[in-house]
Amino acid sequence: MRQHRDFCGIFGIFNSDNAAHKIYLGLHALQHRGQESAGIVTSVFDEVKGKRIMPVHKGDGLVLDVFKDKSIFENKLLGSAGIGHNRYSTSGASDNVANIQPFLVHYRDGNLALGHNGNISNAKEIRRSFIERGTLFQSTADSELILHLIAQSTRRKQVDKISDAVSQLEGAFSLVILTDTSLIALRDPNGFKPLAIGKLSRPGKSDTYCVASETCAFDLIGATYVRDVEPGEMIVINQEGIDSGKFESYSLAQNNGISQCVFEYVYFSRPDSKIFGEMVDKVRRKMGKQLAYDAPVPSVPEGDPKPIVISVPDSSNTATLGYVSECRKLGQPCRYEIGLIRNHYVGRTFISPGQEVREQRVRSKFNTVGGVIKDRVVVMVDDSIVRGTTAKQLVQMVRNAGAKEVHFRVASPPVISPCFYGMDFPSHAELFYNQFDGDIERMKEWLGVDSLGYLSVEGLHSAVHAANEGKHGYCDACFSNNYPVPVDMTASKDENEW
Ligand code: SF4
Repeated sequence: MRQHRDFCGIFGIFNSDNAAHKIYLGLHALQHRGQESAGIVTSVFDEVKGKRIMPVHKGDGLVLDVFKDKSIFENKLLGSAGIGHNRYSTSGASDNVANIQPFLVHYRDGNLALGHNGNISNAKEIRRSFIERGTLFQSTADSELILHLIAQSTRRKQVDKISDAVSQLEGAFSLVILTDTSLIALRDPNGFKPLAIGKLSRPGKSDTYCVASETCAFDLIGATYVRDVEPGEMIVINQEGIDSGKFESYSLAQNNGISQCVFEYVYFSRPDSKIFGEMVDKVRRKMGKQLAYDAPVPSVPEGDPKPIVISVPDSSNTATLGYVSECRKLGQPCRYEIGLIRNHYVGRTFISPGQEVREQRVRSKFNTVGGVIKDRVVVMVDDSIVRGTTAKQLVQMVRNAGAKEVHFRVASPPVISPCFYGMDFPSHAELFYNQFDGDIERMKEWLGVDSLGYLSVEGLHSAVHAANEGKHGYCDACFSNNYPVPVDMTASKDENEW
C-alpha cells in the first residue's frame, strides 16, 4: 500500500570504468527506495592540486532529473570509485538541501563521503552530547552524526575510527563510505537493512566491485551477486584486496541478535532483487500462498461465476499469484485477473495541492478495468494497509466499476506499531488497525468491503522461513510491537526538535 514510503537506496563501486555512470544506473534501479533526492560522489586524483578530490553532484528529484545534464559524467564526476544515494527522508526535514546525501567531509584523514540507509534510534542522545560540546551541524539528518563520530574518534587507523563510530550507534544503518583509498560497506549488527556485494568482470583488467541495497542494481550494470554484507560486518574494498582476491572484513560488536526488516519482503524491495540471501519474488509468493490458508477467497453458489482475484499493482502482484494458486489447490475456485491498472508516470507536479490531494493522487495513479470487474465477485489483494485511506478509495473505485461484491485480502499482518528503524509509518493512533481497535467488523464497514482478511503473524514467519529455511532472524515490530532494539518513542523527525 502506498501510504508508507520507502527509505533509501545506496550504491557504491570501486575499480570501475565510468564509475559515476554505473552509479547513476544503479541508483536508477533503486529509484523505488527513495524519490526525494539523489546524489553521487566520486574519488579522483587531481593532477593540478596533486591530491585526491571528491567531486559531488546532488539535487532534489528523481535520478533521471538530477543527472539529466550528461556532461556531469564527462567533466565532473570522474574517477574509478564512488558512491550514490537515493533519498526518502526518514530523519531530517525533506526540504532541507543540506540533508541530501551522500554527505562529504574533508578531515584529518582526507576525504570521506557517506551514504546511509536506515534510522539511528539513539540519534537524539548523540546529537545532544555533540551540541553540548559546541559541535556545529550542517544538516538535520542523523547520518551526519556518523561523520562527527568518525572525525572525533581517537583511534589511529581510519577503519578503526569508523568501527569505533558505528559501535556507538543503535538502530538501523547500512552504510557505503568512500575514502581516498577504499570503498567501505557495512551493516548494523542487527542487519535491519539489506546490502549486497556484486562483481563485474572486465576483459584484460582487474574486476570491478560494487555494493547495493538490492541486487536489481547489479543487473542493470551487468554485475553478478557475490554475497550479502553480513549483519555486523564491515568490508573494505580496495586495490590491495582486488589484487590479492581477499578483502579485509571486520566484525562489529553483536548485541541483540539478527533482526532483518521483514517489511523489505512485504513491500519495499523489488521482486527481481535478492535481499537477505533470498529472492523477494519467492518470499512474496509464499506470503500469498500462506494468505490462502488464513483468508481464502469466498465461496460462491454453485453455477455462479468464480471470484476473480485482482492485485493492487505493483507491489502486490507476486503475492496475488501465490494466493490464487494456493486457493485453487485448496479447492477454492478463483481466477487471477488484471482489474487495476497503475499509471507509472505520475510525477509530483501532476498532483496539485488542495483538499482532495490524496483522493486525486489515488485516482491519477490507478484505474479500473470495467469489463473485468463488472458483475463479478472481486477479491482485491494488497501487500499491506497502513492508514487505510488508499484502500478505501480503491474499494470505492472497484465498486463504481460494477463489482457485485468486494473482498479485501492483505498479504501481511495488521500494522499495529510505527517503525523506528527507518520506515515512515504514521503514528500509533493513525494506523488503520488501531483506529478501529482491531475490530474487523468496523474496519470492513469503513472500507466498504464484504469481507476483510489478513495474513497472520505466524503465517508471515512461516512464509519467510519456508523461503530461506529459517536461516535468519527478522524484525516484525510493526506487526508485533516487539522492538528488537530499544527505541526512543519521543524521537521526532522534525528538525526543530534538534
Ligand atoms: S518495524 Fe517493521 S518496517 Fe521497521 S524495521 Fe521492523 S519490520 Fe521493518
